[in-house]
Amino acid sequence: MRVLHISDHADPLATPGGEFCGGQNVYVRELARRLAGSGCTVDVVTRWADGRLARQEPIAPGARTVRVPAGPVGPLPRERFGDVLDEFCAGVVGLHEEVGGYDVVHSHYWYSAVAALRLGDRHGVPLVHTHHSLGAVRRAAIGRDEADEAEEHFAARHRIERRIGLRAAAVVASSPGELADLRRLLGTPLDRLHLVPPGVDTELLTPRDRALARAELSLPADAPVVLFVGRLEARKGWEDLVAAFALVRRTLPGAVLVVVGGDAPERRAGPGPLAALVERHGLTGSVDLRGPVPHAATARYYSAADVTAVPSHYEPFGLVAVESMACGTPVVATGVGGLRWSVADPRVGALVPPRDPAALAKALVDVLASGSAGRRQACVDRATRGYGAERWVDGIREVYRRVAAPRVGATGLS
Ligand code: UDP
Repeated sequence: MRVLHISDHADPLATPGGEFCGGQNVYVRELARRLAGSGCTVDVVTRWADGRLARQEPIAPGARTVRVPAGPVGPLPRERFGDVLDEFCAGVVGLHEEVGGYDVVHSHYWYSAVAALRLGDRHGVPLVHTHHSLGAVRRAAIGRDEADEAEEHFAARHRIERRIGLRAAAVVASSPGELADLRRLLGTPLDRLHLVPPGVDTELLTPRDRALARAELSLPADAPVVLFVGRLEARKGWEDLVAAFALVRRTLPGAVLVVVGGDAPERRAGPGPLAALVERHGLTGSVDLRGPVPHAATARYYSAADVTAVPSHYEPFGLVAVESMACGTPVVATGVGGLRWSVADPRVGALVPPRDPAALAKALVDVLASGSAGRRQACVDRATRGYGAERWVDGIREVYRRVAAPRVGATGLS
């Protein structure tokens, strides 16, 4: 089976953690790699956002990324993708024609849905869509002023998200909450909806010796360590975390907060808003800003930490929470989006309300005080049983099998 993934802004081979690079990049890369491992031929088309990278690059045997120019080659803020959308869509349609067509097209995020819809109209190929984030939910979660300013953007986004739900042969929801949102907010027909929670690579993300991981990362052997991993976007709640961490330090004065993600030190123009906030709270020596790290290196950080904080205001799924559990480290997360399901067990951590530093601090102290060793097995079990990569990829393959039109001469899924 030949599968095309359309991943507008998220290049599967880019390093996550920077401003525009996160869960979607990891999701698409891992899915492409595993689908290829199971016999599919996979192309991932994405906007060419880095001139140092080639137009085509292998992801794994049987899977490659194809970068199409749309606007000048170079970074582009996600909200400006609309300016180059027509060119991107033309590139996607051109690729489909160049390779002689795909059996299934799987689009990710709403800009990719526009390209998928054009491809579907022109070539009648079966479409599968994963939203990764919904405009209406995001709009409700971000500040009112920001939402009002972007009114036109959200209206256009809503129209496309509705249309792809009506036009696609299948829509993949990542959590029961997202599935309900798709029904309620977009009217996506139930018979097109498939609940397939993402999986994480539990061979890579597996518990390592904590003392060794700390030594390798030059972290103190005995201090309580709180970890944050992710992009430093406002909706990730990092400001709440810094405020909460100041409160944690009142009870646990030796505690350290490690932040993975954000701009790499060499790309920072100055100390940046996070460092400035840390300084304002008088936390400079106790907050360790590591910048983005390659995905494969995150397991060492999760293993070194006593608890991972996921303080998001809005979180469609939240891979970081599952990755942390896979490494045996409990999670304190806000009760939003997919986190309401992934962290819904007191043995693996705690859920707190969003935008509430006091509640976040209390939960962090409680988890730190109760010790993470006793929670380790429950965390690993939850990640491997609920969010293993094999189950995820089998679920996606089953969706493809249902929607793909049988080709003359085709003998099976692979
Ligand atoms: N990540 C990474 N290196 C970093 C920061 C983040 O590999 O320096 C990865 C992290 O391991 C996770 C993804 O980026 O796989 C973030 O996904 P999540 O769903 O938590 O958030 P999103 O980026 O989708 O908002």
